[in-house]
Amino acid sequence: MFMRKNVFNSLLKKIEEKSELTEDIIEELKELFPDKIEKTLEILKKGIIQYTFSPSGRKIWAVVGSKNDLHLIYPYTYCSCLDFYKSVVINRKSILCKHLIAHLISSSLNSFEEVSLKDEDFSKFLKQFKIKI
Ligand SMILES: [Zn+2]
Repeated sequence: MFMRKNVFNSLLKKIEEKSELTEDIIEELKELFPDKIEKTLEILKKGIIQYTFSPSGRKIWAVVGSKNDLHLIYPYTYCSCLDFYKSVVINRKSILCKHLIAHLISSSLNSFEEVSLKDEDFSKFLKQFKIKI
């Protein structure tokens, strides 16, 4: 598992250097995440959103899911989707769900949507996510 994480990290660096997903990089991603890469690429098209709250400057990431539902994520650590809960937390089959993978790729590409919100709307904002843990 740790080795795979290192491989993914060096791949992310490569994405950052090239600023695009080349055929070679997509092939390497396919080898790393054979069951997730198709959906990950779909998610990348739909969008990754970074919400910045003011005046605190707190940043929250969300990813648009397959049913246009929003998933809350903490980079590398947590996603509010069911797949994360099942295959990462319970079965420990993988280290990341497709949303976390898509988020890391989009940060390396520096390509994501930015939305500004006010601190006072934070709890209202959180309510739209159906957090399962
Ligand atoms: Zn997820």
